[in-house]
Amino acid sequence: MIVVRDPAALRRWVREQRARGERVGFVPTMGALHEGHLRLVDRAAAAAEHVICSVFVNPLQFGPGEDFEAYPRDEQRDCDLLAARGVAAVFVPSAAVMYPDAPRVRLVAPDLIRTLCGPHRPGHFEGVLTVVAKLLHIVEPDVAVFGRKDAQQALLIRRMTRDLDFPVTIDVAPTVREPDGLALSSRNAYLDPAGRRSALVLSRALEAGHRAWAGGVADAGAIVEAVRQELAREPGFAPQYVELVDQETLAPRAHGADDALLAAAGHVGVTRLIDNILLGAGLAGDVRVA
Ligand code: AMP
Repeated sequence: MIVVRDPAALRRWVREQRARGERVGFVPTMGALHEGHLRLVDRAAAAAEHVICSVFVNPLQFGPGEDFEAYPRDEQRDCDLLAARGVAAVFVPSAAVMYPDAPRVRLVAPDLIRTLCGPHRPGHFEGVLTVVAKLLHIVEPDVAVFGRKDAQQALLIRRMTRDLDFPVTIDVAPTVREPDGLALSSRNAYLDPAGRRSALVLSRALEAGHRAWAGGVADAGAIVEAVRQELAREPGFAPQYVELVDQETLAPRAHGADDALLAAAGHVGVTRLIDNILLGAGLAGDVRVA
């Protein structure tokens, strides 16, 4: 596995592979890798001869007071995990390489950030779209894989590539969870054992929403209330939002539907956690690690 820090060198390498008729799959990450990231690598490997992963903690997507400085970083461990998974190249650019000066042109998607995390993280998705656009231009992959754990992000990226004619296929992979249901996240590293127990309420509460829907509750408000009630049973969890939205437009839904997205976010101490399910599938629609 090669570790590349220079965008031009990476683009050259990718073009060499593609000139031979071989496909390139791409998995962008912020590092602190876990099995959720590695399952994305597996999906990319199933779709392409070569997998490229990027590890870049993107300053543009962190707001003031968020955890940019504290975000866990361990390049060697990340590289070891990726090499063991058969990744061909890791792109590890510095912030100075990605942003020689503050970008004055950024991507926005006003309609798609009115719900879920959008109102709570001003500027976040602008930072995400801008860095992903840059990465897709640098890597020029055939396919790029994202996780449904960050459903709003995945949808925004899919729309960006469709609306702006990026020549890439976007693949969205199911959420990978611990055996007890907790969605894998780099931010789980912030949790102590008591915090981890509190965090578990998030997936449990979404499952309560799924059960309400499966049991005949059709009104979105009532489904959301079932989630809120479960969240309220855990004093260590401070809910931020619970919403039922359309999978494609992220607009609020008045009624349940199997393919509607039930999403929630909140804090355990200073750690912000998000999770979501497809209403009809519940946690069973996702992947569990052994
Ligand atoms: P991050 O490093 O948190 O920016 O995540 C990089 C990619 O991994 C994004 O596409 C995430 O949606 C995806 N990802 C993170 N956690 C999970 C998970 N538990 N299951 C599936 N994909 C995930």
